[in-house]
Amino acid sequence: MKKNIVINSIVMILVLSISITMLSLYNLRTSGIKSAIYNAESISEVIKSGLTSHMINGNMNEVNTFIQSVSNMKNVEKLWLVRNELLNKQTNKESYNIPRDKIDEKVIETGELQYEIDESITKTLVRVSIPYNAIPDKGIDCLKCHKVQQGTTLGAVSLVLDISTLKEIGIESLYIIAGLILLAIIFFIIFSRKVLNPYLSLFTIFKKNMHQASTGKFKKINPPSGLSFEMLTITEDYNHLMTTFEETSGDIDKKLQGFIGYKTTNKDRNPLNESKEIINNLSNLYQFKKQVELDDTKEEIYSRLAQIFTNKFEITSFTFIEVNMLTQKMQKVHSTGDSFHCEKTIREQPDLCRAARTKNDVMSIDYHNSCPYFDNKEKFYYCINVDIAKNLYLIINFVCTTSDELEKLKEKTVFIKSYLTEAAPALEVKLLMNALKESAFRDGLTGLYNRKFLEENSKKLIPQALRENISIGVLMLDMDHFKAVNDEYGHDIGDKVLKELARVLNETVRESDIIIRYGGEEFIVLLVGVKTEEDALAVANKIGQNVRQNEIDVYAGNKLKKTISIGLSMFPSDSKSFDSVLKNADIALYEAKDSGRDKVIRFNEEHVSSVDLF
Ligand code: GH3
Ligand code: MG
Ligand code: MG
Repeated sequence: MKKNIVINSIVMILVLSISITMLSLYNLRTSGIKSAIYNAESISEVIKSGLTSHMINGNMNEVNTFIQSVSNMKNVEKLWLVRNELLNKQTNKESYNIPRDKIDEKVIETGELQYEIDESITKTLVRVSIPYNAIPDKGIDCLKCHKVQQGTTLGAVSLVLDISTLKEIGIESLYIIAGLILLAIIFFIIFSRKVLNPYLSLFTIFKKNMHQASTGKFKKINPPSGLSFEMLTITEDYNHLMTTFEETSGDIDKKLQGFIGYKTTNKDRNPLNESKEIINNLSNLYQFKKQVELDDTKEEIYSRLAQIFTNKFEITSFTFIEVNMLTQKMQKVHSTGDSFHCEKTIREQPDLCRAARTKNDVMSIDYHNSCPYFDNKEKFYYCINVDIAKNLYLIINFVCTTSDELEKLKEKTVFIKSYLTEAAPALEVKLLMNALKESAFRDGLTGLYNRKFLEENSKKLIPQALRENISIGVLMLDMDHFKAVNDEYGHDIGDKVLKELARVLNETVRESDIIIRYGGEEFIVLLVGVKTEEDALAVANKIGQNVRQNEIDVYAGNKLKKTISIGLSMFPSDSKSFDSVLKNADIALYEAKDSGRDKVIRFNEEHVSSVDLF
């Protein structure tokens, strides 16, 4: 910077000085030529009047001496007279003072002054010819002696004047100017060192600090000595501004870090940009929290989280798994891309999930397989555990294809976790609500669905079965002589017998079938999707058989065996009204009781009239 200013200034001084010198030299030359012509004219006037007086006085023989004396004048190199050939003819002096060169000839021809400059390195000569024209002047009438027309050029005075002294003056001026330029340059260098240096070094520091400020490093300036008061004030203001920036950005940084637990190890970070990014993330997080609170089901929350992972964090493969450590059950609740490579193991034994067990993040680490059940050796994993409720965890399994991808994911986990932390309470609420709903539909003694469940769900299940042409086998079951168990062994054993019956039912029918404790020791089993009546009968008989064979410990090693009566009706083949089908099954059950118990009776229309309902 400083070098540039000095060089530019010196070049400027040089250009200016050379221009002024050239102009001065040109002016000197022009004025030298003009003064030479003026001299020549004066000399010609002297000669003219000298010649005239010699002519009038009749002493023309002294003319040469006169001319010689004039030509001895300073600066006159050569001097000669020229005569018009016309006069020579009149006086019969053919070759007297005839023109010597083209300038002479042109002057005689035109009657006007002519000159020419002859310049060499050392000498400057002005060759000038001044005409004598036949015009009466100051009482001298040329026409008296010369028989010519008025205005005719009678002759001329030709001179060669030496104006080389002017060149010497010019060269002297050049020396002086060069000296002055040198002085000016020296002065300027001294000036720039003393006066410009502090400003230039301040400028350099400003430039460096401003660049650093743009990357988030706010440094103060120690001003160099020699600055003006105004510059010192500007520097002070700048320092004040930097201090404010540093304090504010540090403060924001600290607060934001405390707010979401974000800490970076990047030394080249820009706290302002980072703060902007964090605030942006916080705002998104706030929006997310508001949305999640409005979500109706936990499925909606999971899909919202999945959208954020895909769109915002650009993660391509992940699975959400709910793990219940108490019941040892797991449920895959969402999956995107190719992930959850430990599914086989975890599905069978959820407590083997390391993230659920340790309640810590589990990830692929070089040379160390922290989770042995992730069986895709080509890929990398990162599992996060979110505490949703007591013994219930949401495990997020992220899968990356490269270690770079895993590193990037690790950097994002702080923000990912802040979303999960916001989602967790809403998920807990939804789970609680689900559990509440569930408990309202469950029988406390057997854990089976209750009558309320049947009433609620049949509203959805029945139209759907009709739409999709699905048959339902409806079994109405009642334990035979159950009252006698109560009477003989007491209610506790009675309860135990009911629980045993529930277990046998659970073990005998499919998971998709619905078992309901309809009341007391009466049960309903809905065989959803049963293909034929025969299949339904087979299941009913199987139930009867299993109940019959089941031995129940009553007390002191005594075993008890019970039987069950079952009535069967088919929906929708028996009736498109589900209530009628229920009633039919009940009628068939009554028939089974009536005809000896421990049997399965398929409902038919004849029963209706033959059964005495009251
Ligand atoms: P049947 O073969 O005709 O069905 O004879 P039963 O004795 O099974 O029939 P009944 O309907 O007369 O008896 C049902 C008994 O079930 C009456 C009631 O005390 C008993 N009971 C109903 N709910 C419960 C229960 O939750 N626990 C126990 N221990 N007994 C119950
Ligand atoms: Mg009974
Ligand atoms: Mg009964």
